[in-house]
Amino acid sequence: MLEGKVAIITGASRGIGRAIALEMARNHAEVVINYNGSKERAESVQKEIEALGGKAAIYQCDVSDFAACEEFIQTVIKDFGRVDILVNNAGITRDGLLMRMSEKDFDSVIDTNLKGTFNCIRFVSRQMLKQKAGRIINLSSVSGVMGNAGQANYSASKAGVIGLTKAVARELASRHITANAIAPGFIETDMTDALGDQVKEEAVKQIPLGNFGRPEDVAHLAVFLASEQAGYITGQVIHVDGGMCM
Ligand code: NAD
Repeated sequence: MLEGKVAIITGASRGIGRAIALEMARNHAEVVINYNGSKERAESVQKEIEALGGKAAIYQCDVSDFAACEEFIQTVIKDFGRVDILVNNAGITRDGLLMRMSEKDFDSVIDTNLKGTFNCIRFVSRQMLKQKAGRIINLSSVSGVMGNAGQANYSASKAGVIGLTKAVARELASRHITANAIAPGFIETDMTDALGDQVKEEAVKQIPLGNFGRPEDVAHLAVFLASEQAGYITGQVIHVDGGMCM
């Protein structure tokens, strides 16, 4: 499905990013695994892809750092010669009630989730414009659509990702570059493992399909949005949430 395509996935050493990297590789894309801190995990994803017969490389970059993103993307373009797919998956939470939320916790979530997404799009789009084609896929969240108590920073960042996606979709559409957002609900990863049992039980009650999703549920949609078949879909926010938000 993705033969000859080069896909950058940020924060791909675990969770949803790892699942997207593997699913892209299963569909024959060459995969750029971005990580921030965990080199060993990134290497293990690379090995998994190579074991599938695929091609992958790992690159360290903190996506919240504008200058570092420029260097990262330029190195990828030098090494691979092209970029066809960008998945902005890297994200963090620093949950807390509004009255107790520190400036640092607000800024770091915005810097990683929203500015990090902008940074990567900023430097990849030049190459996609030259290629007159591209697929940009941004991870938003149901929290960005519905809001969530205790997540003012995270909800703001993920709502920002939706606005960013729509602006980019309009700006780049004439060059056949699409931009879409995926809004997962609760997916079983380290991020949701950190939630207490009571929070998880309450969350499940809000999900019509009755359970948390798996990283693969998100990965299948990412691969579809990256494919030729999704060429007429842009500026959309697509939920993978078991019906939680409808
Ligand atoms: P995770 O915490 O398991 O993985 C996030 C990855 O991003 C990690 O590998 C981490 O190292 C990386 N990362 C964090 N900051 C980075 C930075 N500055 N530069 C580069 N990489 C960085 O989380 P996940 O559950 O796999 O979430 C992936 C994405 O999906 C996130 O954007 C998250 O907000 C979003 N999301 C997750 C859920 C869920 O239920 N798990 C729901 C909605 C949205």
